[in-house]
Amino acid sequence: MKITMIGTGYVGLVSGACFADFGHDVVCVDKDAGKIAAIESGRMPIFEPGLDKLVGDNAASGRLTFTTDLDAGVKGAEAIFIAVGTPSRRGDGHADLSYVYAAVREIVEALDAPAVIVTKSTVPVGTGDEVERIARELKPDLDIQVVSNPEFLREGAAIGDFKRPDRVVVGTTGSERAIAVMSQVYRPLNLNQAPLMFTGRRTAELIKYAANAFLATKITFINEMADLCEAVGAEVQDVARGIGLDNRIGAKFLHAGPGYGGSCFPKDTLALVKTGQDYDAPIRIVETVVQVNDLRKRAMGRKIVKAMGGDARGKTIALLGLTFKPNTDDMRDAPSLAIVQALEDAGARIVAYDPEGMEIAAPMMPKVVMAKDAYEAADGADAVVLITEWDIFRALDLKRLAAAMTGTALIDLRNIYPAGEIEAAGLDLSRVGG
Ligand code: NAD
Repeated sequence: MKITMIGTGYVGLVSGACFADFGHDVVCVDKDAGKIAAIESGRMPIFEPGLDKLVGDNAASGRLTFTTDLDAGVKGAEAIFIAVGTPSRRGDGHADLSYVYAAVREIVEALDAPAVIVTKSTVPVGTGDEVERIARELKPDLDIQVVSNPEFLREGAAIGDFKRPDRVVVGTTGSERAIAVMSQVYRPLNLNQAPLMFTGRRTAELIKYAANAFLATKITFINEMADLCEAVGAEVQDVARGIGLDNRIGAKFLHAGPGYGGSCFPKDTLALVKTGQDYDAPIRIVETVVQVNDLRKRAMGRKIVKAMGGDARGKTIALLGLTFKPNTDDMRDAPSLAIVQALEDAGARIVAYDPEGMEIAAPMMPKVVMAKDAYEAADGADAVVLITEWDIFRALDLKRLAAAMTGTALIDLRNIYPAGEIEAAGLDLSRVGG
């Protein structure tokens, strides 16, 4: 089966490479010529574990090709996936669909045979209807079906998530051809027994937002519980375990921390809030989640200053981890951005180290000095702050870290260090929720 993937970012490149690995013929299109040239020369434009090998193997087999020529890339494809960005629209927080609609126009102009256009980008309810309207307007006589197939992969574990998903959601308006094409696209997943769930198209669009909003709510719930734990002398990790062992609740996404970030939760929760308001069905719980999470990131800055005795002016603070989570180089809406701003506002000098994120982070935080490892970052620091729980930070030589520092404050915003070990190294630990 020939599949075309429009947009070769985190989702498009991983999805395209995985579809090729399933045995499909995949053409990945991106308008960013630099990205396509890099991939073709074997350099991945993003950091994602295992991606270079997956892309290399499938490109070598001839099943995975890359182009900037959308017109040629679309020809002969039975399914054309749209995986372009849908960031927050500047000014009002709605999802910016300009990239999606621009791609749709280009695709439809290029089509000369029946095809299924599949929206993999996260798009608000009703976007599929508008895509269909555009297709009808441009090519009224061509049988073009429009399907919603939201993506649930997580950066950092994207290939495993794509190949062994908890479920695949496919939203259609009932077209038998669309259902048949999508069944064939995902047939290789039958072996992994991943449920392929067919729904209405609007329902599929909403499932993606509902899933992200629910997860963001779960994180925000435990974060507020952590604040209460600090106030009353309870331990949030035990609270999380105590509730998470209940199967109705589940243990995942109950890790207290500096607030959610990344390229999806912040923009998707906001877009869902806007959709709810537009349809006179406000989702107040998610409105609150958005507000609480926004305030939390800067509050982490105040927490750090407090741990340093209440004054950070002229002091040096080392940050370990900048990306919004480990195993990615993605800096979009990372909590570190707000934390750096808050600490700089408090007069501190910041040194940072991140295993993969520094290149992208550096222009976003121009005053921060980037170090070559955790110990260099800690050299002469009054405080060390763990922001992202990369594996490499889980087994630090704490005595060496303490010896490099001038001060003794260690602020662990991910609760990965046992208190005893920190104290044994002569450091003063501050945690989240305990
Ligand atoms: P991205 O910014 O990494 O990639 C988008 C790519 O699309 C870019 O390379 C851009 O050059 C390209 N592009 C834009 N318009 C184009 C056009 N007309 N023709 C060809 N290429 C074009 O974005 P991403 O993180 O992969 O996210 C894509 C979508 O998937 C978003 O809607 C996002 O919400 C959703 N999503 C993302 C994740 C994630 O973890 N990143 C997970 C699930 C869903």
